[in-house]
Amino acid sequence: MAKISINIKEATIEKSEIIAGIDLGTTNSLIAFVNKESGHPECIKEDGVNSLVPSLVHFDPEGNVIVGSRARTYLVSDPSRTIYSVKRLMGKSYKDVRDHESYFGYKIIDEDDDKLVKIRVDNKFYTPIELSSLILLELKQRAEKVLSNEVKKVVITVPAYFNDAQRQATRDAGKLAGLEVLRIINEPTAASLAYGIGLDKNEKKTIAVYDLGGGTFDISILRIHDGIFEVLSTNGDTYLGGDDFDRAIVDSWLQKNQVSPERLSDKSFSQAMRLQAEEAKVYLSVHDSYEGKHDTLNCNITRTEFESITHHLIDKTMVCVKKALKDAKLDASAIDSVVMVGGATRIPSVKKMVSDFFGKPVYDKLNPDEVVALGAAIQADVLAGNQKDILLLDVTPLSLGIETVGELMDVIIPRNSKIPTSAARQYTTSVDGQSKLKIAVYQGERDVVKDNRKLAEFILTGIPAMPAGLPKIEISFILNADGILKVRAKELRSGVVQSIEVKPQYGLTDVEVEKMLLDSITHARDDMQIRAVLEAQTEASQVLQSAEKFLRLNSALLSEEEMASMRSHMKALEQVLTGNDKDLIHLRLDELNSYTAPFAHRAMDAAIASAMKGKKV
Ligand code: ADP
Ligand code: MG
Repeated sequence: MAKISINIKEATIEKSEIIAGIDLGTTNSLIAFVNKESGHPECIKEDGVNSLVPSLVHFDPEGNVIVGSRARTYLVSDPSRTIYSVKRLMGKSYKDVRDHESYFGYKIIDEDDDKLVKIRVDNKFYTPIELSSLILLELKQRAEKVLSNEVKKVVITVPAYFNDAQRQATRDAGKLAGLEVLRIINEPTAASLAYGIGLDKNEKKTIAVYDLGGGTFDISILRIHDGIFEVLSTNGDTYLGGDDFDRAIVDSWLQKNQVSPERLSDKSFSQAMRLQAEEAKVYLSVHDSYEGKHDTLNCNITRTEFESITHHLIDKTMVCVKKALKDAKLDASAIDSVVMVGGATRIPSVKKMVSDFFGKPVYDKLNPDEVVALGAAIQADVLAGNQKDILLLDVTPLSLGIETVGELMDVIIPRNSKIPTSAARQYTTSVDGQSKLKIAVYQGERDVVKDNRKLAEFILTGIPAMPAGLPKIEISFILNADGILKVRAKELRSGVVQSIEVKPQYGLTDVEVEKMLLDSITHARDDMQIRAVLEAQTEASQVLQSAEKFLRLNSALLSEEEMASMRSHMKALEQVLTGNDKDLIHLRLDELNSYTAPFAHRAMDAAIASAMKGKKV
């Protein structure tokens, strides 16, 4: 195993190849690489100046896609077709985001609480993965233009708290953009690498990374030893960032000019105020006062005023910092270095508060917008083998997973995971009373299992009869240091268990492994399309099944017309079900779901009423 992973690295990464580092941010994204001549990391800059690509995607009515700063004006003029903050939706279900729905100016599909979210623009449906891939593609093309060279391999950063689903979604977005994602690394790890912390194998340090971005705040406590970055704790606030400082300025201007906050419901007024407030905030990071006008409104503010109206925001971040230290069981004095990340850490009062709290100067020499991307570029350079003295851990060269509904590959251990490693995921049954479940284990990067390599298959038997969806079947993969994979399936309610051992690399030559990887990149776009269609079809047939069941059980609750109308919606969905147009399937699904939503409430009320009736008072 160890031998194979190293061979792969040497076989697929040629000396002249560029491996880029990408910071895929909520507000801004960047791409960086290590300059071969200077040996230093650099961000790719448009026209030699601006390295930030706003994480915005606009779809014009003709279906053209506009990404980055050119999409900015559409935030005001065409909000329903302009997607921002897509990172907040990565790997999330509607249930996860519904409390913040008003935050998004575009349509998030809300029919099924547990499914991954989709975004609707006109009659098209996009997953956060697809939207992120458009941002990644823009970064890739930007870099290729500046470097006059193809960029195919990347390292992408994610917040330290991202779970498996969010990391996998980020990987998929890369794949869809035609990139091979060599590693997903934590943003705080990248930031410390950018400062050279952790590059020396013998270094032992405990650091805090304070990251205040546009709309999110993260604090991470890391322990670094033997070239390994261990996350001791993370904390933060996913709805606190530079934007809140802008809002505080807008509020104070409205107050000063005795303008009612209601005027902010005029989108273009509020957007104009917000942009001017951001300008004032940035200006105040280096000057003592800002003077401006909007129409007849006086938009002045001094740094002192700014500090007094934003003090509570900084206090809020410090509460998170204290919690993170508590979780790591550390005192502020145990922190050796404090690294500042994110554009909003340029605010002098933020810096002062953090530095006072830890009792030492903070690391702020590097551009805080760029520091994560720069660190990702360093990690990329290490993977390219250019930094010989850094330890690389053994990794698994191909992803390991199982077959799920629709013959799709569900990855449990992604390729390039450090070994030994283990991971588990829960599944359930799709048919009432199902007593057996076939578990087929595959290896490879393709989305449809038949394109991957089958390693083993076994059947979990003896699942007690339960309605579909109720059994909890945990599939765990344990890959030991010798590369032996143990797969175990356990029904958690009853405890029935079955397991098997396989040797994933057995019989595969390095050349074959490499071919499998190359195939996955060449077919990435087709694969994602096929997967999207298969997923839509599976979802549609499940919804149709429940609709049938609903009609069987609750016919008394519906009028003749309603029944007929529901049937015709179902028919419309059935008609497109076997086609290859995922958007059309989603559209019909959406229509059926919206039509039947009120019936579900009715059924619930009826159930409650009948339960009450039976009660003796
Ligand atoms: P994210 O990580 O969320 O993508 P960034 O790290 O790019 O975000 O931070 C963006 C935020 O930083 C915005 O709120 C922006 O106004 C703020 N910002 C950028 N430059 C400055 C500055 N000089 N002073 C104060 N805030 C700044
Ligand atoms: Mg960031």
